[in-house]
Amino acid sequence: MIDFTLKRTLIQNSRLSSVDFSNLPFGKIFSDHMFTVNYANGAWQPAEIRPFGNLSLSPATASLHYGQAIFEGMKAEKDPDGNVLLFRPQDNIRRLNRSAKRLCMPELPEELFMEGLKELLALDKDWIPTQEGYSLYIRPFMFSTDPAVGVRPSETYEFIIFTCPVGPYYSGDVNVYMETHYSRACQGGVGEAKAAGNYAASLYPAKLAKEKGYDQILWTDAKEHRFIQEIGTMNVFFIIDGTAITPELDGNILKGITRDSIIKLLRDEGIKVEERPVSVHEIIDAHDNGLLQDCFGAGTAATITFIASLGYEGHLMQLPEASTRRISQRIKQRFINIKKGLEPDKFDWIVKL
Ligand SMILES: *Cc1c(COP(=O)(O)O)cnc(C)c1O
Repeated sequence: MIDFTLKRTLIQNSRLSSVDFSNLPFGKIFSDHMFTVNYANGAWQPAEIRPFGNLSLSPATASLHYGQAIFEGMKAEKDPDGNVLLFRPQDNIRRLNRSAKRLCMPELPEELFMEGLKELLALDKDWIPTQEGYSLYIRPFMFSTDPAVGVRPSETYEFIIFTCPVGPYYSGDVNVYMETHYSRACQGGVGEAKAAGNYAASLYPAKLAKEKGYDQILWTDAKEHRFIQEIGTMNVFFIIDGTAITPELDGNILKGITRDSIIKLLRDEGIKVEERPVSVHEIIDAHDNGLLQDCFGAGTAATITFIASLGYEGHLMQLPEASTRRISQRIKQRFINIKKGLEPDKFDWIVKL
């Protein structure tokens, strides 16, 4: 155990009663408190829980100029008895620290993350929605705070966790555009890190894809645009002739915790899973031969998102009606049930507060 001193400044009146829980936009409603820790003089300083509120920063704040900023995304749910459940939180802090290393930022002690998170959730647990499809989205993030311009690693950082009660991320099924011009990640780059700049770089290509009538981009490799990487901020799975296929972790794609969990659930259901390079042409051939049974995205924000169609250079591949996708519907339900404590946690994924 690290020496964990936590200063608490609590809100006077909760904003909870002013929130319409039947109509929650994603990521715009924030619960009462946030957890913050600063890094300075080569060490993490005493942590604090205080009311969610604005930060005061110098206009020269390094992360605003050079993008030394990383984040995580996770969710808390309640089981039928009202216990707060976290899903594989240890994997989030480990990934945050891998991202930190790549962006030349200090690593956060795992215990500090876990204790801060638990304290925050204990305090704001009434913000966890319980309706089907709803949960408390948790946003841990870290950014450099040196008040100075000049490209170099910052000497000071701030780590924050805030939470948002959220409803479904996508309102319907998603049409995806296979990108053949822009790239998300290349060998040796930062594709594997949850680095803020990756998402900034995706916005313009995503806007162009929207203008063509698509909801999201399916990224392909930067060199040849031949091999599939992932969809927006989700890892991607295909089911071809009964076998589930997902791109291998080659350093360019985000190591999704949902991805890893879905692979384990698929194998648990006796479905063969292949992690390997997946080419655009393999998918087109499978579609043309009537063997492409499913395509879905996997990520914390949207869990499993059924892809309705895939567009590639003017061709549109229509996928089977989502309600008929027996395998992924079953996996999705099991995944949701495990996260909500409605099914035994046979993989030891759940941390109960
Ligand atoms: C966060 C993220 C994912 C999904 O990761 P999970 O751990 O499953 O939430 C996939 N791709 C990208 C680019 C991401 O940022």
